[in-house]
Amino acid sequence: MLDISDVLASQQVLGTVPVYLNTPDAIFSQEILQELGQTRLELLEKVKNDDPGASGFLPLLFDAEMDAVSHFLLRVLCCNDGAASIWMIDAEEALLKLRWEQASDEEQCAALKQMNFVPESQGPRSRWVNLLVTGESMPYAVSMPFTDLPPKLLAERRCKLRKGLATVERQDFLPLLCQCFRRHLQTVLQKSGQHVELLLRDSEQLKQTVDHLRPQLEQFLLSSRGDEAGVNLQLSNFQEMYEKSFPPCMQYLVKFQRDGKHLKHLGRKQLRPLLREAGLPLEEALAWWRREFLRDVTVTQESFDSEHAYHIKHAYGLEGKRKPAYGWSCWRTLDQMQFPVPKGPEAHGCPFKSLEEADLRELLRQHGGGDEVLTQEVSPPVGLASEQICCARVFQSRHPGSEFEAMKHPMQFLRRSHAYYAAQLAGEAEASSAAQVQVMKENCVPNPKKPRICRKPLRVAQLDQFDEYFQFKK
Ligand code: SF4
Repeated sequence: MLDISDVLASQQVLGTVPVYLNTPDAIFSQEILQELGQTRLELLEKVKNDDPGASGFLPLLFDAEMDAVSHFLLRVLCCNDGAASIWMIDAEEALLKLRWEQASDEEQCAALKQMNFVPESQGPRSRWVNLLVTGESMPYAVSMPFTDLPPKLLAERRCKLRKGLATVERQDFLPLLCQCFRRHLQTVLQKSGQHVELLLRDSEQLKQTVDHLRPQLEQFLLSSRGDEAGVNLQLSNFQEMYEKSFPPCMQYLVKFQRDGKHLKHLGRKQLRPLLREAGLPLEEALAWWRREFLRDVTVTQESFDSEHAYHIKHAYGLEGKRKPAYGWSCWRTLDQMQFPVPKGPEAHGCPFKSLEEADLRELLRQHGGGDEVLTQEVSPPVGLASEQICCARVFQSRHPGSEFEAMKHPMQFLRRSHAYYAAQLAGEAEASSAAQVQVMKENCVPNPKKPRICRKPLRVAQLDQFDEYFQFKK
């Protein structure tokens, strides 16, 4: 663990509420960076799970600079993975809340003001038009366009509305800050993907640091997703997920082999880690790859065992460097350096880029449509490629009612699709149980039998006759 005493704090983060708007200008060795990244990952996981040990853990990041460096390092780690981004945003918000509780009024006010001055282009649309300062460092209330309010405050009528402006009182400042912080983090994580790819390509040390942290993050992601949110790919549900939930790139690679064609090196390199990340157990992966390879008459059982089985085990972290392999992000798959345009019998890369339009349409049609999006105009925002936007539209078309989210990783497609169908199943189960209750209610007609009414006069023993009656009975 990091020896904090070696790096004495000049500016402590304890008691403050950092919102990380500016990148720190600091240089740390690779070992310290790794330690910082690990420490922050553990801290965030504890805070996110509301672990009571988290508060005791906070002093480990007590230096403002180290704290900021660890935060930005995790941005680099998470920005190209949808699930990791969500995990980071949730966990950082939990940490912000914890720090808010421990901070003084002045520090809380400083955080509020900092978020207020985020430039429009970089941060939240929300601008607090007026800080109603009343002589104290902390305002009693702030006013803002009501459309920028956190929905919770609006729903619970916890603000005053007048002429389109909402005034929020002091006890509700934290939800405001959290909303601004979340939006800012979402925006920067979304926009920094391309920049981070270039950064990692130029800096081998940073890349090694990120690779070092990835397995730990993956563990947290797996445990936080839980059984119901996980993809949990197995041979038993492979066909169903291939048809319904695989992204076009994975569908194309699987189909290519099923057509009896030999998947070349880059295609295997692309598909192997994705199947592992989707949860396919090693034994089942070996069985699946054996079956697929042996469709090709040139591959024998012996060559599979001696060559291909090794690479599959390698992807699971059982051979070589003994680190599990992770799927390539969309950006890297689209990168010509990593995946050059396939030639001849090759099938790797992103089909939105590598396939002819007719073949792409055919692929999309075979797997539930979405090819109509190819005629739509695409103007990708900075940091995204048009292929990622097309893929996101295909997702929307295949999953009606889902939100648009630019595709950054094939696993993002797979996880979102899996969650979509799981929610649909849960909805259907709820609807069918409600229908059953309704049928039961309808069948439950009142008992047609009328209650028996005794029309004869009741015989009531009178007290003065009781002894006589009792003796007679005996
Ligand atoms: Fe796969 Fe990404 Fe291309 Fe979609 S955009 S097909 S997920 S590589």
